[in-house]
Amino acid sequence: GIELEGIRKSFGPTAVLKGVSLAIADGEFLSLVGPSGCGKSTLLRIIAGLEVQDAGRIRIGSRAVEGIAASARNLAMVFQSYALYPHLTVAENIAVPLRMRRLSGLQRLPLVGGLLPGSRRERAAIDAAVRSAAEILDIGHLLQRKPAQLSGGQRQRVAVGRALVREPEAFLLDEPLSNLDAKLRVHMRSEIAGLHRRLATTFVYVTHDQAEAMTMSDRIAVMLDGELLQVATPHEVYHRPADRRVAEFIGSPK
Ligand code: ATP
Ligand code: MG
Repeated sequence: GIELEGIRKSFGPTAVLKGVSLAIADGEFLSLVGPSGCGKSTLLRIIAGLEVQDAGRIRIGSRAVEGIAASARNLAMVFQSYALYPHLTVAENIAVPLRMRRLSGLQRLPLVGGLLPGSRRERAAIDAAVRSAAEILDIGHLLQRKPAQLSGGQRQRVAVGRALVREPEAFLLDEPLSNLDAKLRVHMRSEIAGLHRRLATTFVYVTHDQAEAMTMSDRIAVMLDGELLQVATPHEVYHRPADRRVAEFIGSPK
């Protein structure tokens, strides 16, 4: 799981996170919701190690991660804008983290004009991991295509596949569906829920969409102005909102 204790962060004079504490259980699906600008992405980026908190502690899988680089935290981060490498095939895109892992320790080489070939055994292991991730996501038939030849939802799945091959400790998803049309959103929502069930890994899922959070989550954390107002099951948040602000945001009955 992931434990946060008293996480604070300011950008210049602005306090963006004002002491966030939260324990996310192993295998839990936790949605982080709240209005635009309340600090959701900042919190996710701090967990991922892409940003450093001013105060507070983080443990991931009961290991303190202060001073541990993002790449060594073994978390999979999927953003709203899922940048795929346009010149690589789907299979090569999914394999990128595995090749990077192989290269870590060596000098990082730019990923232009194809990837290092590696030994035959390494290549076979990478192929197998890519194939299995692609099958889980139902994109096994698209492995030789380039991103430009895919639909939005298919691209999204490639981005998730790239996260999946790392066998991460947890998934951090920051509004991964917000670029998709309504129909595809609903479809991808159930895909992500299914993925969570199959993997039984911890998911932290940031969304603007209360309906999405209500249907997918074990618990919902409601954030406002850099503070968590309530962390509870969807049922509790809806029927017993901690205060008026939670009720308003969630749309609970009066
Ligand atoms: P949204 O739902 O719109 O994505 P959010 O909850 O993810 O919003 P954050 O991106 O965490 O919000 O931003 C929280 C606040 O911190 C915002 O007011 C934002 O302008 C500010 N902020 C974020 N990153 C930086 C930065 N690098 N420098 C200065 N201010 C920042
Ligand atoms: Mg955000």
